[in-house]
Amino acid sequence: MLKNAFVWFLLVFVSPIHAVETFLAKDGRAFMEVTYAGEALKTAATELAGMLTRITGAEFVCKASESESGIHLALQKEAVTLTGREGYHLESFGDRIEITGATPQAVEHAVWDLLHRVGFRQFLPGKTWEVVPSKPSLSVDVKVTTSPDYHSRRIWAGFGYLKEREAVVEEWNRRNRATSGITLNTGHAYDHIMDRHAKVFEQHPEYLAMVDGKRQKPKFCTSNAELRKLVVEDALAQFAAQPDLDSVSCDPSDGGGWCECAECAKIGSVTDRALLLANDVAASVDKAHPGRMVGMYAYNEHSPPPSIEAHPQVVISVATGFIRGGYTIDQLLDGWSAKARTLGIREYYSVNAWDRDLPGAARGGNIDYLRTTIPHFHARGARFMSAEASDNAGPNGLGCYLAARMFWDVDEAKKIDALVTDFLESSFGAASGPMRKFYEMLDGSKKPSLSDDLLGRMWRRLQEARGLTKDKAILARLDDLALYTHYCGLYLDYSSASGKERQAAFEAMFRFLWRIRDTGMVHVKALWRDVPNRDKGVTLPPGAKYNDPEAANPWKTGVALKPEEIAKLVDEGVEKRKLLDFEPVAFSMKLVPATKLKLTEVPRGNAGIYLRGVRDFWTWVDAAPATISLTGTAGVIYPNRGPAKMELYPLAEAELKSVAHLEIDPDKKPHELKMGTKFPGLHRIEVTDSTQGTSITWQDGMPMTIVSSMEQPAKLFGRWHLYFYVPKGTKMVGGYSDGEGLMLDPEGKTVHTFSAKPGYFSMKVPKGMDGQLWSFKHTSGQRQLMTVPPCLARDASELLLPEEVVVKETQQ
Ligand SMILES: [Zn+2]
Repeated sequence: MLKNAFVWFLLVFVSPIHAVETFLAKDGRAFMEVTYAGEALKTAATELAGMLTRITGAEFVCKASESESGIHLALQKEAVTLTGREGYHLESFGDRIEITGATPQAVEHAVWDLLHRVGFRQFLPGKTWEVVPSKPSLSVDVKVTTSPDYHSRRIWAGFGYLKEREAVVEEWNRRNRATSGITLNTGHAYDHIMDRHAKVFEQHPEYLAMVDGKRQKPKFCTSNAELRKLVVEDALAQFAAQPDLDSVSCDPSDGGGWCECAECAKIGSVTDRALLLANDVAASVDKAHPGRMVGMYAYNEHSPPPSIEAHPQVVISVATGFIRGGYTIDQLLDGWSAKARTLGIREYYSVNAWDRDLPGAARGGNIDYLRTTIPHFHARGARFMSAEASDNAGPNGLGCYLAARMFWDVDEAKKIDALVTDFLESSFGAASGPMRKFYEMLDGSKKPSLSDDLLGRMWRRLQEARGLTKDKAILARLDDLALYTHYCGLYLDYSSASGKERQAAFEAMFRFLWRIRDTGMVHVKALWRDVPNRDKGVTLPPGAKYNDPEAANPWKTGVALKPEEIAKLVDEGVEKRKLLDFEPVAFSMKLVPATKLKLTEVPRGNAGIYLRGVRDFWTWVDAAPATISLTGTAGVIYPNRGPAKMELYPLAEAELKSVAHLEIDPDKKPHELKMGTKFPGLHRIEVTDSTQGTSITWQDGMPMTIVSSMEQPAKLFGRWHLYFYVPKGTKMVGGYSDGEGLMLDPEGKTVHTFSAKPGYFSMKVPKGMDGQLWSFKHTSGQRQLMTVPPCLARDASELLLPEEVVVKETQQ
């Protein structure tokens, strides 16, 4: 009985409560006017009326009025709190629609929410990606009160925007509710405080940090109470000068130089010192201006979590990159959320130097990453989001659109598949089938590798899509993506060439970039400024720098490409970029020693000089308990990123938990490493080193295999030489390569020479050469094996292979 009552309760209170269906227009005739109460709402009202006119073909009158008739925009009567600025209420009553917001900004959000509900979309910035449905009869049925899950939702471009792009990006932000109600100041602050009070610091050198016995900038002597008072007064003065200020920053200056005096040491860690000062500021600010905030990063030396509580008005922004001390992002979030009420996230959706706008290369193009992290961070107390991105709608536009939806409402993460389908169907109509496949190739969670094969498939999907529609708006979107795909090809040609060819490809790419700059498909400004700075293999001619004006710039020439030129690029792309000529073969990861195969002995290879980031090694324990002994050297490139960490995962451990944990000091010296296990069989050793560079070595003949497949690519550094097994009956060795080197057959003869150009390779296996070890020698970069077991080892005795291969061949 009780159970039934509970079900009844759920049905009544969880089923959607419908408002009244309200007709805005019928057969191209408007049923109501748009009215607004107060001049501050005029712009939003005018935009709403204009957009409804475009959707219905009916004339929507827009006028100032206090009376609640028609579609009425008004401000809420209640007082507005700092975090309540963006809340709004939308409701249809049959003969009228009410739009009430806390602020004009909130009303604007409500307007774009209403338009979204009737089918309007601004997927990517600019006219081409605006979807205005044609609905001469239009009705809505809405009742919603909402406010954003993240108080600030900033997606901004590193290197900034081209002048031509600023307005469309700003429009995209507004139309996707990706503007912020609160301005969280959180940039480096100490230097500015020193500058504002230069005289005081001259008179009081003791306010500055003591480093090597000398008082000096750019850090404070935080233990000095007078110094802290000065910083507090400086913050109060900022609020006095700008009464509308939402927050001040108390983030330390960049770099190190923390005070070495005895009193500062007593406060505790660098983080505790920075937080102590921020807390002092927040306490006084909160008293004088309740609700206002103090921003600070968890970054660099002050990224580790504190031991003291943060004042409730201190907002800690955790950076998801450049983390010190060997912490993972989750450890930082957990540590900080235990001590601070509100967190911010400093994200990296795209950084041009890392991703160069290539398919799936950045977090902004990784749909799984976005759908997982945005709700996850929010659940740990994150309420501010500042995401560095690029103006690169080609690879990351869809991701940024989805992110904006989730920033407002993290529950949208559960509807990502439907949102992607909506994007594809609204943007591409009849061509959405091939375009879904196209977008799967841009998705970072599927790890696309830039190659002729990938480009070939992108071009083929575009060609197919163009044949399925005559709709001009859709064709314009396909044109944009063709320009993006052509850029990717030019980038591949440039990055894989050397000498004169590299310079020529570089020039071709830049001349093309200039002609497509208005599309925002790639971040022309960032590429132009950054690529020549980092590539010593190419030069810009005089007057061709990014800042050199167009009139005299030899590479800033030519106009936007015409549709017929773009059509030609598509056909040429299909012709030029050939597809793979082999079928990938799947293998299990149930690895066992290859010793049963009694393979011929070979000269021992080597696994390169070190690893960076995360690397798995696979080993085998014959009899447990056992101790796995290795030698490790950490800090090879960067000695300041904390220890490298090792975990040992026996595959037989039911919960897939690590049974041994080790840390290697980053002192560039070899350390003996011993890890115990009670489990026999396959073990995975995971090394994580914050990309500091770590070398791991082991005794000759110990089972030790590195897996390198498309799903788990292994990046090895330094020239390496490793063997792989070609099972009996294999006709073709196929895979992916991105660096120079040789492929040797079982007799040690060179059968293929790799160039630096990334791409797929395939080699026929001659008769009698199967069932033996082949190898990659003098190799740099990656080799991902796709038709043979993706297992690399220094010789036969160390090799592990998929169980099914070993079982099959020992039975034969
Ligand atoms: Zn000090």
